[in-house]
Amino acid sequence: MDDRMIDGELQDQDVEIEFSLRPSTLSQYIGQDKVKENLTIFIQAAKMREEPLDHVLLYGPPGLGKTTLASIISHEMGVQFRSTSGPAIERAGDLAAILSSLEPGDVLFIDEVHRLPRSVEEVLYAAMEDFFIDIVIGSGPSARSVRIDLPPFTLVGATTRAGLLSAPLRDRFGVLSRLEYYEIKDLCNIVERTADIFNMPIASEAAIEVARRSRGTPRIANRLLKRVRDISQVKGEEEISLESTKEALQMLQVDDAGLDHVDHKLLKGIIEGFHGGPVGLDTIAATIGEESQTIEEVYEPFLLQLGFIQRTPRGRVITSKAYDHLGIKRTGED
Ligand code: ADP
Repeated sequence: MDDRMIDGELQDQDVEIEFSLRPSTLSQYIGQDKVKENLTIFIQAAKMREEPLDHVLLYGPPGLGKTTLASIISHEMGVQFRSTSGPAIERAGDLAAILSSLEPGDVLFIDEVHRLPRSVEEVLYAAMEDFFIDIVIGSGPSARSVRIDLPPFTLVGATTRAGLLSAPLRDRFGVLSRLEYYEIKDLCNIVERTADIFNMPIASEAAIEVARRSRGTPRIANRLLKRVRDISQVKGEEEISLESTKEALQMLQVDDAGLDHVDHKLLKGIIEGFHGGPVGLDTIAATIGEESQTIEEVYEPFLLQLGFIQRTPRGRVITSKAYDHLGIKRTGED
């Protein structure tokens, strides 16, 4: 089984629970106080002006609540929520079909917005700015351009890689919000809220333990909790205990800091193969048999946040904090 518990990406096992767990109002959305504060004001102002909300770009690692926030925005604005993703819109015509079916004020959520094909992106510029699109009908000498007026709408784009967004697209978002990894206390609230929805009481120290090992990510916290609940139920507990929690996390090979076997492989790969670095991303990826992109988007951000890895111009370097965590003695010079 290579069911990565700590991968923030959406997995099949999440789909059924995600829907029921998704908060629907800003006040139910836990944490990310700064983002929430800003959005509250912008939403209120847009409603007072009776205008759609400005386009919003949400960026940050997977599983932090970008989709959730987008649907909350539509709920708070009292409009419909339409959802698609960058790779799903292959041609300008696909985008035209989606945009022209919107009602005034609707929220169109485009996940992985950095993966829109360039030709689609170019059509999107005028749609975002002036609410029209020009599409070319036919081909060759008989080709002609047709202008379609659109209802005003709010585009909410989400990306894990803001750096990959083209400048013209980025500039067309009026609100740019970066989602941060959650603090333990916020994750703890999320775990308790989820346990409540599952109808399964949880001891507060057990909730803290799940929160501590969730890599600052609600999706992972919910996923871990689901497995913890299984163990607890099999043991016939009335309340999820710390003991069952630890047992489940050990079975899942999630360590004290929330790292799994891939993180360990990554850190040890750099330590054992390259004396702790510096080493280039592609080299380390090839050595441990993982994709560079997965390392960069899924594993590394949290290891950087923990201060276990540093990025230097010459490559990745393992810090003493990581050596301590792994219980490995540093040898030679650094
Ligand atoms: P992303 O789009 O960033 O990958 P999602 O919005 O799909 O992440 O969030 C993943 C899951 O985590 C959701 O099902 C939701 O239940 C939960 N979640 C995310 N953010 C929060 C939050 N702030 N409060 C409560 N639950 C949250």
